[in-house]
Amino acid sequence: ELHNTIMDLRGNIRVFCRVRPPLDFEQEKLLCGWNYVDESTVEIQNFENKNKSGAHTFSFDHVFHPNSKQEDIFEMVSPLIQSALDGYNICIFAYGQTGSGKTYTMDGIPTNVGVIPRTVDLLFDSIKNYKRLGWEYEIRVTFLEIYNEVLYDLLSNDQKDMEIRMAKHNKNDIYVSNITQETVTSASRLRDLMHVAKMNRATASTAGNERSSRSHAVTKIELIGYHAEKNETSVGTINLVDLAGSESPKTSTRMNETKNINRSLSELTNVILALLQKQDHIPYRNSKLTHLLMPSLGGNSKTLMFINVAPFLDCFVESVKSLRFAASVN
Ligand code: ADP
Ligand code: MG
Repeated sequence: ELHNTIMDLRGNIRVFCRVRPPLDFEQEKLLCGWNYVDESTVEIQNFENKNKSGAHTFSFDHVFHPNSKQEDIFEMVSPLIQSALDGYNICIFAYGQTGSGKTYTMDGIPTNVGVIPRTVDLLFDSIKNYKRLGWEYEIRVTFLEIYNEVLYDLLSNDQKDMEIRMAKHNKNDIYVSNITQETVTSASRLRDLMHVAKMNRATASTAGNERSSRSHAVTKIELIGYHAEKNETSVGTINLVDLAGSESPKTSTRMNETKNINRSLSELTNVILALLQKQDHIPYRNSKLTHLLMPSLGGNSKTLMFINVAPFLDCFVESVKSLRFAASVN
């Protein structure tokens, strides 16, 4: 299978680029020059800047142009989701500046759902098929927000003390103390919980703070399979992460906050780079996000990073920054 070949070559880390289209009310906005060279290469050009001539070229495992559909994207993601049922740990990230399409890619919109709702449907469909082979699955979910290096439970309105802890029996396993974990037996129940989490995240973010664009939202789905006849178990995890906006802050009024927010993102880059370079020490513990995801980054885990970019000229600098991030990962 193509998917597996790529994963082998890349040491289980893949990067997809997605350029979003202008929306109806954005038709007047100036665009960068985009050239989709082939399935994995894209060129970006700033026509206005005559001094810096030439286009910047970036290569990825795949490039999704603005006309790509949500189902095209999920087709490339679904093998990863399937492998979680076989006991793999998966991380899927959406990285990019605010407004670039991270949430559209992960959640989608009600009329055109994204990776997370499609994952839910695929899981419950697959579990039905696995049942015929004697496998029973338990599905557990948590919804977590990380803002300013503080953890928030998106299934609870109470302000609680939550900490990242090491599991007693397995040093490599991590859990969050006090977090609400729900066991779900239907796709509709899971969708309801996703809705609750989304509402809670929106409530915490008001016009006064930019919390929702400055925080990471982590949907974690644990899949515990059991085959009675074979007396076999399988434990897989899917982490779906809508990352904080990657843009540089415009104001320096909340320096501390900004530093922490950028810290999570840059530490994620550091961890991924360290993994690719097969360094002995992977700096997982430098941020809450990487610490939390430690069991699902590296080893035989599989990581997929979406680099989301907006097509506009006034996003050129941030877009090139995002695309470079990917280049450093590849
Ligand atoms: P982010 O989460 O990165 O801040 P959003 O996902 O909210 O960005 O996207 C910004 C706007 O663009 C939203 O209105 C969203 O619905 C829309 N959008 C993003 N990507 C696409 C796409 N591929 N096709 C159509 N609309 C999109
Ligand atoms: Mg968003």
